[in-house]
Amino acid sequence: MDYQSTRDASLRVSSAQAVLDGLAPDGGLYSMPSMKELAFDWRSVLDMDTQEMATEILTVLLPSFSKDEMRTLVKNAYTNRFETEDLTPTVSVGDDTVLELFRGPTSAFKDVALSMLPQLMTAARQKCGVDDEILILTATSGDTGKAAMEGFCDVPGTKIIVFYPDGGVSPVQKAQMATQTGKNTCVCAVRGNFDDAQTGVKNIFAAVSEGGLLDGKGVRLSSANSINIGRLAPQVVYYFRAYANLVREGRIRAGDPVDYCVPTGNFGDILAGWFAKELGLPVGRLVCASNANNVLTDFFETGRYDKNRPFYKTVSPSMDILVSSNLERLLYLLSGDAALVRSLMEQLKTEGAYQVPAGLLDKLHAAFWQGCCDDAGTKRAIGKVWREHGYLMDTHTAVAWDVAQQYKAAHPDHNPVVILSTASPYKFPAAVLEGIGLSAEGDEFDVMEQVRDETGVPVPKNLTGLRERTVRHKDVIDRDEMLDYVLKKATTKEWFSE
Ligand SMILES: *Cc1c(COP(=O)(O)O)cnc(C)c1O
Repeated sequence: MDYQSTRDASLRVSSAQAVLDGLAPDGGLYSMPSMKELAFDWRSVLDMDTQEMATEILTVLLPSFSKDEMRTLVKNAYTNRFETEDLTPTVSVGDDTVLELFRGPTSAFKDVALSMLPQLMTAARQKCGVDDEILILTATSGDTGKAAMEGFCDVPGTKIIVFYPDGGVSPVQKAQMATQTGKNTCVCAVRGNFDDAQTGVKNIFAAVSEGGLLDGKGVRLSSANSINIGRLAPQVVYYFRAYANLVREGRIRAGDPVDYCVPTGNFGDILAGWFAKELGLPVGRLVCASNANNVLTDFFETGRYDKNRPFYKTVSPSMDILVSSNLERLLYLLSGDAALVRSLMEQLKTEGAYQVPAGLLDKLHAAFWQGCCDDAGTKRAIGKVWREHGYLMDTHTAVAWDVAQQYKAAHPDHNPVVILSTASPYKFPAAVLEGIGLSAEGDEFDVMEQVRDETGVPVPKNLTGLRERTVRHKDVIDRDEMLDYVLKKATTKEWFSE
């Protein structure tokens, strides 16, 4: 089955081409025409180990690849790169189950997908007979950038440029990115917020494709943001992993529904959960958890998406987003109406807002619930869970934990709840330390040690010694300089001479 643009059903490409291109040429996202047709015997994967499970599910979602090909790609992506063999372990915390997605090479949940994407992309390049070098452009709110560079670092035939909002990421995130090694990696700060950086990247894709700016230069652009279907597909797997673990531990029987609560930013993670549901996994409700930037909370309540509101910098910066790109895929798949999606996205661009039709809102309400939690609530949640359960959560996970409790209070008949944990607490140590009732002393790196001394929770290896590593990336530019920056880099052969 082919993928097609969410804004034009006649723009169809194979799944390999969709991975290669990232974004559809009309600015839409690549989507299956329907997910339900892909539904398969989900029970058959429950007893598999995580790599085999990933092979099965990814072959369903990306049918350009045979099962044997996929098995090799999965093995290359994941073997010995995560702290635990099942990649994404589950932990009981009180009545809930926490799904730990941060055991990968950069301690962020994005590692799950970004370990896999370079494998898919280089295989897709071969399959589509493309000789051009692939230049990945990525806007990051903090975690994607590092995880993407780690995934693409020194992968032959690829280069990667990461843009992040200047002053909009944590010192640890900044240090992780600025010290990135590899001959093919580049990091640049943009004066503005995440939406500025993301819009800037989208505009570069449009300008390059409309103007043929890189034609004949031996290089083509692609994206590692979750707008790329190759980013989204690997995330579907851990919804099955968590479910299988609950069955294995006897907490549910196969077939019982499970609710998942997801700390949400660009809507990629939670959309993967909806894909899992469409594929047949017994997912009850998907709970969309937001921080003070609660544009999605309002949207799910009212059906009106309105980004005309203040932008808050919060202690959960990876969720500081006012335009959640992947929502477009959900709107398309629920409505099956590319013309409607095109018109809504046009309104979003010109007016910053749109209202979905009542029928569509009913469908949203059937599958989703929504809630938000501000910074004070986030820190309270960290402290409470640490004191009552001895479990240390990062700020994003804490938002989801708090919203999960709101959800359960509002739905006494809820199912067992899985809370997705998206980062190590050591990526946001200052807020975590405050959460457990202490005040920070010194810089963020000292604070990491304070958290460790107080809690005894080990610091992930990739985050130790960050301060001593050499800073290799120092560029800072304005938004309107992004296109020139990319064109210059694209035509420079060697980025580093050392
Ligand atoms: C990216 C990220 C999120 C949000 O995920 P989306 O797929 O963008 O909704 C949540 N928490 C952390 C730590 C992240 O890095």
